[in-house]
Amino acid sequence: MHSNIAQISPNSDAAFKLSVKHIGKRFRMDASTEIDAVSNVSFDVKEGEICALLGPSGCGKSTVLRMIAGLDRPTSGAMYLDGRPIDGPDKSRGMVFQRYTSFDWMTVQQNVEYGMRINGIPKEQRRDRADQFLKLVKLSKFKNAYPRQLSGGMQQRVAIARTLANGPSILLMDEPFGALDAETKWQMQELMIGIVESSRVTVLIVTHDLEEAIFLADHIIFMSRHPGTVKENMFTRFKLGRRFANHEEMMEASGFHEMEKKLMHLMRDETRSAFDDPTSSD
Ligand code: ADP
Ligand code: MG
Repeated sequence: MHSNIAQISPNSDAAFKLSVKHIGKRFRMDASTEIDAVSNVSFDVKEGEICALLGPSGCGKSTVLRMIAGLDRPTSGAMYLDGRPIDGPDKSRGMVFQRYTSFDWMTVQQNVEYGMRINGIPKEQRRDRADQFLKLVKLSKFKNAYPRQLSGGMQQRVAIARTLANGPSILLMDEPFGALDAETKWQMQELMIGIVESSRVTVLIVTHDLEEAIFLADHIIFMSRHPGTVKENMFTRFKLGRRFANHEEMMEASGFHEMEKKLMHLMRDETRSAFDDPTSSD
């Protein structure tokens, strides 16, 4: 019963990279109050897909992502990665957070090698892999710098390289460009397309920025709140199976404005219900 084959659950759909099935998360606020932060969330992500989890602030996107990362446990439901049940953190799921999380006292290269060092990868191989991923995020020239010497965008590139160097089966990102200024954010999104095209990694990215979702994603899952659940499951079909190299290309594509308008309506419906609800505090 301990072989990998035996662990593949009959409930999972092997056609998908990631399957999230009816997950819910209930938080206890105090002795007498519990809240359903997310409820009955189900979706699937295909191998090689960039999937965006989009929705207004507070709808439970981070809660869902943390459960997929294994940092939190769902109160109900189940999740499967490559057909295997998710149960706790694992290096098959690499996470990039909004705020930079590298070690200050290590160089860029040492940061990228850190996970591999912990996993016992020999020095030579570590170095080669670090070089490869530093090149991918365009930081080769800065490998001997310390994180504090880098801009916010460059620090996020270190985090991406470090996470990818561990060879995750899926890359999980929680508002990774949310703290960056607008032009750095566009550059990072464009760089991200290049990273995915060359590494072929599957990505699940959380964002509340609808343009970011449209630009990056092949697949968008829109979440609504109170409790957080999936409201729409859609695909960026107007891209005709390609991804855009830059934002201008996206803006000129027919179908972009319709998609943007549709998402804006969904987002506005959510904010309107929050404004109208006298018990809502956010
Ligand atoms: P988002 O990432 O979409 O902004 P979150 O997942 O952070 O939303 O939060 C969803 C809801 O769950 C919010 O109402 C938030 O206050 C609540 N929540 C998140 N984490 C906790 C926690 N550890 N304890 C209690 N409530 C929480
Ligand atoms: Mg969040």
